[in-house]
Amino acid sequence: MNGLDLLGPQQRGLYIGGAWREAEGGRRLDVIDPADGSVLTDVADASIGDAVEALDAAVEAQASWARTAPRERGEILRTAFGLITERADEFAHLMSLEMGKTVAEARGEVGYGAEFFRWYSEEAVRIHGRWMQAPAGGSRLLTIKKPVGPCLFITPWNFPLAMGTRKIGPAIAAGCTMVVKPASQTPLTMLALAALLEEAGLPAGVLNVVTTSHTGEFSQALQGDDRLRKVSFTGSTGVGKVLVRQSADQLQRLSMELGGNAPFLVFEDADVDAAVDGAMIAKMRNMGEACTAANRFLVHSSVAGEFADKLGKRMGSLTVGRGQTDGVDVGPLIDEKAVESVGRLVTDAIHDGARVVVGGEAPGGPGYFFPPTVLLDVPADSEINVQEIFGPVAPITTFESEEDAVRLANDTEYGLASYVYTRDLARTIRMAESLEFGMVGINSGLISNPAAPFGGVKSSGFGREGGFEGIEEYLETTYVALPAG
Ligand code: NAP
Repeated sequence: MNGLDLLGPQQRGLYIGGAWREAEGGRRLDVIDPADGSVLTDVADASIGDAVEALDAAVEAQASWARTAPRERGEILRTAFGLITERADEFAHLMSLEMGKTVAEARGEVGYGAEFFRWYSEEAVRIHGRWMQAPAGGSRLLTIKKPVGPCLFITPWNFPLAMGTRKIGPAIAAGCTMVVKPASQTPLTMLALAALLEEAGLPAGVLNVVTTSHTGEFSQALQGDDRLRKVSFTGSTGVGKVLVRQSADQLQRLSMELGGNAPFLVFEDADVDAAVDGAMIAKMRNMGEACTAANRFLVHSSVAGEFADKLGKRMGSLTVGRGQTDGVDVGPLIDEKAVESVGRLVTDAIHDGARVVVGGEAPGGPGYFFPPTVLLDVPADSEINVQEIFGPVAPITTFESEEDAVRLANDTEYGLASYVYTRDLARTIRMAESLEFGMVGINSGLISNPAAPFGGVKSSGFGREGGFEGIEEYLETTYVALPAG
């Protein structure tokens, strides 16, 4: 199977106002296979004029879409959930091809990504306001929830399906229309999703998908347009800050899901085997190319040796190769730049005094591979503990006291995910309350769940995706003051 079958030739174009078409001037953009650097296929490369047409289509569809019955919007999402689930293998292969992750890993993302459609199909019918008597008696207060209006969604390459469905699901449920710009390196999954939503009955203009290499000008043009009411972005903190600045003139509503630098704390009372199991998930999900990836392993000195040894054995036993090959556990990174950046962080950490337990060096040759790597005795201030690694490298730093652990964990500009391994209930509560992160996983390496509010604080952004909270990002509140009658 080759997931490219999900897309007809036209469906590698732009999807605007319910029709597939070429970009202005017929310009195209290559999609590269990260396993060998070859060109997989190409997609349309939209001009700024094309992008504005996509916004025109979203604006035109907004009023009628907002009037549809919640149940109708929910049913479209439920149908789309069913179709993605039926075609899970095709989607998994397509994602594996364009992004590099293994097919098994991609299947996991298909399940996770599809769940946002099921969850928000259920939430579409639970949008409600409130009715109350004013505290002083007399008047009555009524609130109504309304869709925010046309949205712009910009998504990253690391989860080509789920980072889209996490925005598209609640927006559809709330009655918003949208323009979606997937990452240029992984546009195919989003195009396949657009075709599937059309099949599920989504009316023309509600979802518009634009692929473009003119990314900066594209966001400037759409954010400069006062018809656009909301931007939801998942990607790097640097680009997030650009989009926040660009939103100022139109005061667009924003959701920012940005970078992370997750600490993974292992206390002296932890079940070390369970911590190693959790570390394998928190580190190796998506080859470490996840905003929630455990970035800094902070381990009590009394168990650090055992933890490093066991983690090193597990990491060293993984097979690296093309994501579509049976038996492969770890696929390539997204591009050459990623391999260089991970390699540089590892080399610098070794220079700072870290010891290599396993891995350490890129093999070279075709494809963008980096071996699973464990480093011990990494100084807390080594650059690898400061930056988001975005690769399969686990740096271990030791601590002596709980106070130390919390100080080290919070000593980062980021605040997305964190992980804690301990068997002490009181400590669990102290950690949940003192870690400055949007999410805290207790004795678990996997925290993402469509029913939970996903998001960060500090340089990891603001806003929440998933859960009951996720749909609020797409709703405005109107307050109606009523006399007592
Ligand atoms: P990125 O470089 O910020 O790119 C993300 C998206 O932004 C892509 O679609 C990219 O388009 C677009 N973009 C780049 N410059 C832009 C501009 N000036 N205006 C508008 N859009 C622009 O990030 P990435 O390297 O793809 O993704 C990795 C980052 O995403 C990591 O920092 C990771 O932690 C973060 N992430 C966060 C979450 C979360 O939920 N918090 C989830 C996943 C990933 P092009 O592809 O065309 O350049």
